[in-house]
Amino acid sequence: MRTDANLTTERPTFVTHLECSQTSERYEADIVHGLSRVGRPLLVRYDLQGVAGALTKATLAERPRDMWRWRELLPVRKIADIVSLGECETPLVNLPRLGKRHGARAPIVKDEGRLPTGSFKARGLVMAVSMAKAFGTQRIAMPTNGNAGAAMAAYCAQAGIEAFVFAPDDTPEINLREVALQGAKVWRVNGLIGDCGAIVGAGKLPMGWFDLSTLKEPYRIEGKKTMGLELVEQLDWHVPDVIFYPTGGGTGLIGMWKAFAELEAIGLIGPERPRMVAVQASGCAPIVRAFEAGERHATKWEDASTVAAGIRVPAAIGDFLILDAVRESGGFAIAVGDPAIMAARDRIAREDGLLLCPEGAATAAAWETAVDTGLVDETDRCVLFNCATGLKYDMPRADAFVDRHAPMDWESLGRGGAVD
Ligand SMILES: *Cc1c(COP(=O)(O)O)cnc(C)c1O
Repeated sequence: MRTDANLTTERPTFVTHLECSQTSERYEADIVHGLSRVGRPLLVRYDLQGVAGALTKATLAERPRDMWRWRELLPVRKIADIVSLGECETPLVNLPRLGKRHGARAPIVKDEGRLPTGSFKARGLVMAVSMAKAFGTQRIAMPTNGNAGAAMAAYCAQAGIEAFVFAPDDTPEINLREVALQGAKVWRVNGLIGDCGAIVGAGKLPMGWFDLSTLKEPYRIEGKKTMGLELVEQLDWHVPDVIFYPTGGGTGLIGMWKAFAELEAIGLIGPERPRMVAVQASGCAPIVRAFEAGERHATKWEDASTVAAGIRVPAAIGDFLILDAVRESGGFAIAVGDPAIMAARDRIAREDGLLLCPEGAATAAAWETAVDTGLVDETDRCVLFNCATGLKYDMPRADAFVDRHAPMDWESLGRGGAVD
C-alpha cells in the first residue's frame, strides 16, 4: 500500500457506470467487465458535476506531480487497491534543432520513457491491474509486442497476481527478459500480436485467466487518458495545436480524446481541441488506409512488418474510436517508412540529445513530412509522443578503440575516427 501524502486519505470517487462505445448501452460499475455485448470496448463514465466540485486548479496545485493527482477522474475507488511503482508526470522536451531544420516552431516531445518499466504502458496497466486487484482477480493474461507485457508483469508482481504473457517470437529480446524477470510466465509465439491474442482468448476458460488485451477491459484507457490531462495542465491549461500519436491499438489516442471532453465538462478547458494525428508505419498502416478510404472501420493489414514493434498492430478493436477522434479533431492519419523512422531517431539523438524509441521517432518523421508538405503550419504548437525509453532498442555499434600503450594520434581522435 502507498504511503505518500497524496494517497493516505480516503476520498469520494465519481464513477457512475460504464457505457458501450458503440451502442451507448449502460453497464453497472464495480463488477468485472470485458467487452460489451456487441463486442466493443466499454468506456468508464463519471459524475462530472461532482468531479467539477472536487477537482479544481487550486486543489491540483497542492498535489504531488504524479498521475494520481487526477484521482477524481480515475476508476480506482479504494487507495488500498492501488499498485504503484511511482507513476511520475513526464516532462515536455523541446527539439529546437529539428524545428530549425524545417523552418518551424520546435516540436515538443512528451517523453513517456521516464515512466516505470520505461514506457507509457505503465499508465494503462497500473490502472487495469489495480482494478483487477480490487475485483480479486488471481490470474491475468495478455498478448503483447513487449512493453505492455513488461508493465503488466511488474504491476502483477506487486499485486500478487499470476501473469501470463504471449509475444510474437521477434519481440525485442530485452522486453521478454524484463517480463520474465518481473515474475510473469512468458512465451514466444510464431505469429503476430493478433495470433497471441487468439491464444489468450482461447485460454480464458481452461486457464481461468482474465483477458487484459488492449481495449478488451475498460481501465487501460482510463490510465492512458492521464496523458491528455497532464499535457493540458503542463501547457498552462491550453491544448496544443496538433498531437502526433504512434498508433497501434490506439488506447492513448482514444484516452486523450476522452480526457479533453472530460476536462471541458468540468470546466478546466473550453471547446478547443488539438488536431489528432494517428501515426503508423508504412509496413503496418490499417488506420491510415481506412482514413484515406473514408471508412469507419479498418480491415486487417496482411504481412505486417516494421522496426517500430509497438505499432505493429494489424487489426485494432477500437479502430472506429481512433478514426472518429482523428476526423472529429480535423486531424489526419499518416504512415512513415522504417528508413525515415530510424533516420529521425539517429538525427534527433545526435542533434537534440534526446534518444527516442522507434515509435516515438515515427511521430518525429511524420511531423517532418507534415511540416514539409503543409499538413501542419510552421507556427503550430505540435506535441510528439515518445512512448518508451530509447534505451530498450537496438542502437548502432560504437566500436572505436584506444590502445593505451600506443602513442596517441590526437588529431584522429578529434575526428572521432579510428585510433591505430
Ligand atoms: C503500445 C505502444 C504503442 C502504441 O500505443 P497504443 O496506445 O496501443 O496505440 C506505441 N509505442 C510503443 C513503444 C508502445 O509500447
